[in-house]
Amino acid sequence: MSQNTSYSNEARAYEQLERTIGIEPGRLAEAGIEEIASAIRPAGMHNIRAKVIKRLSEIVVSKYNGDISRILIKELQEAREELIRLPGVGRKSADVILLFEANKPIMPVDRHIFRITERLGLVSGNQSYERVRSILESIIPREELEMGHLSLIEFGRRICRARTPLCGSCFIAESCPSAKLGKVKGNRRARADRARDTGVDD
Ligand code: SF4
Repeated sequence: MSQNTSYSNEARAYEQLERTIGIEPGRLAEAGIEEIASAIRPAGMHNIRAKVIKRLSEIVVSKYNGDISRILIKELQEAREELIRLPGVGRKSADVILLFEANKPIMPVDRHIFRITERLGLVSGNQSYERVRSILESIIPREELEMGHLSLIEFGRRICRARTPLCGSCFIAESCPSAKLGKVKGNRRARADRARDTGVDD
């Protein structure tokens, strides 16, 4: 539900879903699409998302007995491919599950991390999700991937923001090519971020 919605709307939708229906696959599989849609309305695109949530839950219940841990114990690539085959689960979502639920050495890349990586000159523009992921995995030590992921998102939300990056108060401005060269063009970047983020997890 994080795509194309603000963090606060996503959080409201999640909280409402948890309170009114529950987030366990069994409960979601039994709930009506309209019921789910109503609960997640704050996130937007609620009718489409409700159908995906219901279908995904039904598969998790019927194929995995309501528990995907048997996917997560598999080798990284095999587990990743199996997760991505599930409805509504894109690369980023799969990687988040693999990192945080299975402690696999993988770096999920969201729109904030894409933007920061480009601005810092770690990748040139229009790189693929997989390319950015593998570059970050080669830089960040395995045991720091979780903290690195969360810290980069927070940094992107608060400092290296899409529209108005706070380069003046950024602790790495001295070594950031975008700050030095004045390459940050807020609105154009923000549009590009949104467009690309749509493709990240579809
Ligand atoms: S200096 Fe500006 S563009 Fe560079 S990382 Fe900091 S906030 Fe982002």
